[in-house]
Amino acid sequence: MINLRNLQLKEMETLIKSMGQPAFRAKQVFSWIYKGVTDFDQMTNVPKVLRDKLAEETYIGRLKMLKVQKSKTDGTRKYLYELEDGNTIESVFMKYKYGNSICVSSQAGCRMGCRFCASTRNGLERDLTAGEILSQLMEAEADTGEKIGHIVIMGTGEPFDNFDNVAAFLRIVNDKNGLNIGMRNITVSTCGLVPMIERFAEEFPQVNLAISLHGTTDEIRGSMMPVNKKYPLDVLIPACKAYTEKTGRRITFEYTMVNGVNDSDADAARLAGLLRGMLCHVNLIPLNKVAESGFDTVSRKRAGEFAEILESKGIPATVRRELGADIDAACGQLRLGN
Ligand code: SF4
Repeated sequence: MINLRNLQLKEMETLIKSMGQPAFRAKQVFSWIYKGVTDFDQMTNVPKVLRDKLAEETYIGRLKMLKVQKSKTDGTRKYLYELEDGNTIESVFMKYKYGNSICVSSQAGCRMGCRFCASTRNGLERDLTAGEILSQLMEAEADTGEKIGHIVIMGTGEPFDNFDNVAAFLRIVNDKNGLNIGMRNITVSTCGLVPMIERFAEEFPQVNLAISLHGTTDEIRGSMMPVNKKYPLDVLIPACKAYTEKTGRRITFEYTMVNGVNDSDADAARLAGLLRGMLCHVNLIPLNKVAESGFDTVSRKRAGEFAEILESKGIPATVRRELGADIDAACGQLRLGN
């Protein structure tokens, strides 16, 4: 059976034509799906014969919601879903002044092994399909009754380790016949898989790119992120520069601050040196404590001082506002199953 939420409009057209129907019917079916319809009989402008055929050969994949946690302070909701094969994933709905946003997972588990991250404890289970990434947004819209206009791919998983499905997801959500979410309202966050940064610049120059940096020397970064062995700073930073030059877009560098590891004045100065002359912005994130990581967080005051050093050296920097901290929905706290 085909999950229709995996299909881009062109693929939907091919399918509908193979069912002996004209291509324009694909647009109708596609737009019903992204209006949130999950029953073919609700597609009132689609002929009965096609609705029956679709019901026989396809389905509209849903996620089974196992748990919703609602923040008492800021409207954040954290969802735990079960996939068809029993794997579980999480996503987080957040309210901002500029509108609603969802942080989605791109894989069940992750094999990147970042030491401060709860999502990688059991390694990679599997890649998510485009439809499974998309359904996280659709289920949150159905649950909240609110439209979501912004997406960050920053939940469990390394999106560039599942590039093809993430690419299909981006094309589906951006389609004007469906959700019509602008590429500029979407951010993809990577731990720094260099060849994929190049491909991303080529295929999605409008989508925002965030890079998890977290360290200013190979020693520090490598101790937190195993990926640094394969793509050390003298490979990653030039790739980032090339990205900004090719796309004209600013990169956001995510920098999780860990007490006594990467939070000194010297770290701030080195960070400014690494990023000098690049179109970029630094997002400082005081570590969200994951009990078993053994790392300790920094105060917001220290994060503010670090930001000031960066600013004084011409590097724009902000300290991330914490949403959903009371329900462990903050960055680096997503985990499988609890
Ligand atoms: S921080 Fe991201 S890339 Fe690193 S292990 Fe966690 S989910 Fe994977």
